[in-house]
Amino acid sequence: MSKKVHIKTWGCQMNVYDSDRMVDVVAPLGYAPTEEVADADLVIFNTCHIREKASEKLFSELGRLRSHREAKAQQGGRMMVAVAGCVAQAEGAEIKNRVPWIDMVFGPQTYHQLPEMIARVSREKGVVLNTEFPPVAKFDFLPDTSITTKVSAFLAVQEGCDKFCTFCVVPYTRGAEYSRSVDAVVKEAGRLVHEGAREITLLGQNVNAFHGEGPDGKTWGLARLLYRLAEIPELKRLRYTTSHPRDMTDELIVAHRDIPQLMPFLHLPVQSGSDTVLEAMNRKHTSDDYRRVIDHVRAARPDTALSSDFIVGFPGETDQDFDATMKLIRDIGYAQAFSFKYSRRPGTPASAMTNQIDESVKDVRLQELQKLLREQQEQFNIATVGQTLSVLIENKMQKDGLVFGRTPYMQALHLAAPECLVGQEVRVGITSAGFQRLEGVVATVSADAA
Ligand code: SF4
Repeated sequence: MSKKVHIKTWGCQMNVYDSDRMVDVVAPLGYAPTEEVADADLVIFNTCHIREKASEKLFSELGRLRSHREAKAQQGGRMMVAVAGCVAQAEGAEIKNRVPWIDMVFGPQTYHQLPEMIARVSREKGVVLNTEFPPVAKFDFLPDTSITTKVSAFLAVQEGCDKFCTFCVVPYTRGAEYSRSVDAVVKEAGRLVHEGAREITLLGQNVNAFHGEGPDGKTWGLARLLYRLAEIPELKRLRYTTSHPRDMTDELIVAHRDIPQLMPFLHLPVQSGSDTVLEAMNRKHTSDDYRRVIDHVRAARPDTALSSDFIVGFPGETDQDFDATMKLIRDIGYAQAFSFKYSRRPGTPASAMTNQIDESVKDVRLQELQKLLREQQEQFNIATVGQTLSVLIENKMQKDGLVFGRTPYMQALHLAAPECLVGQEVRVGITSAGFQRLEGVVATVSADAA
């Protein structure tokens, strides 16, 4: 490989998956991945539209990149620059106007066409803008091999969303809900395991709405897909994210009880504990609906650790609404969570609501909520001290003699152990715990360890 590609990724696991697949798509053209942006012949910014001021941050990154691009040109080389992902999809024309020297702007559905776009950039002057929603899914065109497979790998099974929560851009940037076929998913999972993956996290913006065509010609839900994947030898762990409470079917909840490979950890966003706010968000469930789902999951698999997403300061959120969210958090108890201040996304219904909340109020609420979540996470971690947990060792750490792994409950763990344990499940006695990670000592290594 004589050329280098540098990809900077913002946002969710789906973007991380997409970036890895972009590396695979350009590998046959001779591009090897590099961490050094100055060395790159191709730089891709894979963007996320969820965070505040996403496009402004992108424009300042592009400003910084320009000097590297010019330095490369002075040495007689060429650095192609592309913006991909959800900001590209939503604001492609604006990017093209504001950064006329950019080479490519493409959305999340068209990166399988990268070789063709690169060829067009080499031949033509001007920006290649590719933000269509093509009628044929990109997954059918992605390579059968990957040079980025990790012990814990992502696998996209579903994309897009038809739910239209009023704060969210996903239905506009990722398009309508689409599920891959079961055969395609099983084939990719088999390939990932062959390449060394021992844990697979199934990805989708609305993953538990998965409804792919099964080998029998019928529609399979996520539960049935999980049972099928659990048959793959050497695949030790399964997870899935991100889910919607409305799509937690009874079959899926039973799968948590019956599939040993399905880890006892569930990320189930609720966003708010107030029914008024949930209705304004168009979530189409109440806080009691959510509590019932959690009760059923815990009845099926009592040790399930929970994670969620919370938005504070949604338009119209009163003190009472916020208190309802705090009560829900206290009642349920989370092992971890993501929380954000509401911020307007252009084009979404909530951005046009007139009852926006003052930033100072949002700040106070977010601090209070994060303090509670942090305490819960710390307590959850501390409660594991003294236990012996199964830990999948994912990689060697920079510091000599240390490896990184995760417990079934998604807790990060640093361990003094040899590198040869990477890819193995190890029984670890937990000796200490903090808010963000655990430490422990090896008790036993699984029977199939080298
Ligand atoms: S269900 Fe999730 S992805 Fe779909 S609109 Fe709501 S927040 Fe966005």
